[in-house]
Amino acid sequence: MPSGRSYLARMNRVFSGIQPSGELHIGNYLGAVRNWVALQSQHECIFCIVNLHAITQPYDPRELPARTMEMALGLLAAGLDPDKCTLFVQSHVPEHTELAWALSVVAPKGDLERMTQFKEKSAREETVPAALLNYPVLQAADILLYRANLVPVGEDQLQHLELSREIARRWNARFGEDFFPEPQPLLTSAKRIVGLDGNAKMSKSLGNTIGVLDSPEVIWEKLRPAVTDPARKTRKDPGNPDLCNLFSLHQFFSAPAEVTHVAEQCRTAGWGCLDCKRLLADNMIAALEPIRERAAELKAHPERVRAVLERGAAHCRDLARETMARVRDLMGFVPAAGAH
Ligand code: ATP
Ligand code: MG
Repeated sequence: MPSGRSYLARMNRVFSGIQPSGELHIGNYLGAVRNWVALQSQHECIFCIVNLHAITQPYDPRELPARTMEMALGLLAAGLDPDKCTLFVQSHVPEHTELAWALSVVAPKGDLERMTQFKEKSAREETVPAALLNYPVLQAADILLYRANLVPVGEDQLQHLELSREIARRWNARFGEDFFPEPQPLLTSAKRIVGLDGNAKMSKSLGNTIGVLDSPEVIWEKLRPAVTDPARKTRKDPGNPDLCNLFSLHQFFSAPAEVTHVAEQCRTAGWGCLDCKRLLADNMIAALEPIRERAAELKAHPERVRAVLERGAAHCRDLARETMARVRDLMGFVPAAGAH
């Protein structure tokens, strides 16, 4: 756990979050989480399970606690090391919502309405909650509360990060010279993994995912019917790997020689799609096996996961308190009686 000199003086700090809105999937892993694992050895890193964001979509409150703990377990199994980074649950640090309110005074409503995620997610709702509109303001608060300057995310979050920078700029201009740094995104080579429907982004909320913790049987059950190049109507029709979502997945799970072979077999109809899927499934199962093994061990010791989250929240509360004291002061809030 990073500690020591006042964090306000520190330079590079990484922050990122993930919603407990469903299973940790290979899009999350390839697009963001494997980068988190790499970054924890290079920078001070804070990672957050953003349960306050997850409640902006329809959800069952009875399931949220288990989902939150499963996400924590999945992230630790994927390689987050509590000795190298901080992992915590957003609602354990109430300053996130306090700062979100403070930032909302400089967040342009028109920009919020233009966000692609808002448009896509609100289209699925009969009544659009205000919280869905304000989602990017809370996200800006998550990052700025720790004055983080680096944010490893998938491509879908670039627009929100641009808005975070805008919010930081506007807040600084109005209340305090350069208090908040402008956070920059960090992308991986897998910045947008497409879902098994071959169409939309792989998303927890769309049910088009392969879970990082899925068993070998489930991975195969999900890959078997997955959409491929539509030109391959029958076994004899040649395909174009560049139009096949599963071919793009091969590039993350299969060896270079296998990738070349798969492309050739697709173009010549040497293989059927099922042959290609079987190889992908085998490679994916092998790649995810160490994560599944660590998850099984952690499942047997849930107290370890709870302890990590408790320690993470205690650390983040200290940091958050420091930021909010300055924010309240700069925004002109009178100190509470007895406060110093
Ligand atoms: P939801 O559907 O509930 O929004 P999600 O699958 O989009 O869930 P998030 O918790 O919103 O997951 O995002 C966590 C991180 O994973 C973010 O950095 C996001 O950019 C990244 N990410 C999500 N989906 C993908 C994807 N398909 N490809 C690459 N990165 C992704
Ligand atoms: Mg998302």
